[in-house]
Amino acid sequence: MTETPIRTRFAPSPTGMFHVGGARSALFNWALAQQQAEGRMVLRIEDTDAARNRPEWTEGIIRALAWLGIGADDPHFEGPHFQSEQADQHRETARSLYESGRAYYCDCTREQVQERRDNPNLGYDGFCRDRGLEAGPGRALRFRVPEGGPTVVDDRIRGRVEFEHAAIEDFVIARADGSPLFVLANVVDDVEMGITHVIRGEEHLSNTPKQQLLWEALELAPPVWAHLPVIVNEQRKKLSKRRDKVALESYQEEGYLAEAMVNYLMLLGWAPGDDREIMPWSQMQPLFRVADVNSSSAFFDEKKLRAFNGEYIRALGADEFVERCRPWLTGEAAPWDDAAFDEDVFRAVAPLAQSRVAVLGEIVPNVDFLFLDTPVEDDRSWNKAMKPGVGREMLEAAQARFADPGLAWAAEPLKAATEEAGASLGLKLGKAQAPVRVAVTGRTVGLPLFESLELLGRERVLARVGAALERLRAQEKETAQG
Ligand code: GLU
Repeated sequence: MTETPIRTRFAPSPTGMFHVGGARSALFNWALAQQQAEGRMVLRIEDTDAARNRPEWTEGIIRALAWLGIGADDPHFEGPHFQSEQADQHRETARSLYESGRAYYCDCTREQVQERRDNPNLGYDGFCRDRGLEAGPGRALRFRVPEGGPTVVDDRIRGRVEFEHAAIEDFVIARADGSPLFVLANVVDDVEMGITHVIRGEEHLSNTPKQQLLWEALELAPPVWAHLPVIVNEQRKKLSKRRDKVALESYQEEGYLAEAMVNYLMLLGWAPGDDREIMPWSQMQPLFRVADVNSSSAFFDEKKLRAFNGEYIRALGADEFVERCRPWLTGEAAPWDDAAFDEDVFRAVAPLAQSRVAVLGEIVPNVDFLFLDTPVEDDRSWNKAMKPGVGREMLEAAQARFADPGLAWAAEPLKAATEEAGASLGLKLGKAQAPVRVAVTGRTVGLPLFESLELLGRERVLARVGAALERLRAQEKETAQG
């Protein structure tokens, strides 16, 4: 007997920015689907909540998945399908559950139910179970939860989880207007799409006994269930969009590489089983097992993600690094006009930057001194490096040496010249180069200084040192007068 191929699904609701937790769910489903030639992951957009859906969120989901490497160019991908297109199926199934006696119509208002109940937490009391109501205005359809016994959810990650029927109310599966609720629509779609594995966030575990009852009422064997651990922040609180940076897009914009993100997300609740953590998708994917996912919460450690990303950046080839940086260096995002960007200069400086940045966005403050007319103004750096008196004296000494046509304009002689200028004032190289760095780049930290001076060229370096000196002299004058 051949086994039915795996069909997983990723079923986001397009109601907001694409969440890193959603990305992890998608990747786990994707890994499993890719393990079989016939395996599929269906993307199903659960767009039935018309009030909260927006088409741009759907586009955002598709874009984000594509960035992670999940999309229609891979034969394991199917979709996107839209839940709203299944409306007839949802209604038909609701109707068939009514006809088979597994569901009944109910016209109780919320107030009526509450009046009858001492304890409102108990939920619906089954008042209409045997009233034999037909469909009609104001009548919702409720599922008849079997009396006695628990429903046992056999979860691949959590093991057997029992839910006593006494604690499950006869839940609504379709509203009075016939529209289905999440529990029903989600099951009907999984049935229709032949889903074999439901791998999703832990928050859906409480829906699962209800959904399993629906599968059983439809006389079908439920899928494999697997509920992924919650993702928590440093305070061990569930990641939330109010508190934490959860949008995958923010990471992309900061310059996280998709492959580093994929690698890191895969480790939120799962590990390849040896000590290796940095591992490309192609090696991780075949090792992934749902049963090996941990049930305890997973810490989203941004520092660790940054470290991963730095490693991935350093592993890029030189040309690849330049290409990956391009979105930050040209066009809208760059703080200079495209005409000011000199690709050759960037290529020359790129290896120095590649070993230093943890996210690609950090490339900009490292190289902006090369492409801006004047260095950025950073008061903290200025105040730190430009000490009255000695700062000016140091710049004057450097200026004299840099202006000497006998000085070859290259990193080594520039270093020697700066060292000499410092020594003439009793300054060690560290202290001597700080005012030069701030005068030329605007900042106290950055790429190796003397390579930077070489690249910027004598003329621009002298102009910047001259401008800084003017500013220093003006400051000194003010202090003297004040
Ligand atoms: N639309 C649901 C959600 O985004 C899907 C739940 C599921 O995967 O079954 O939470």
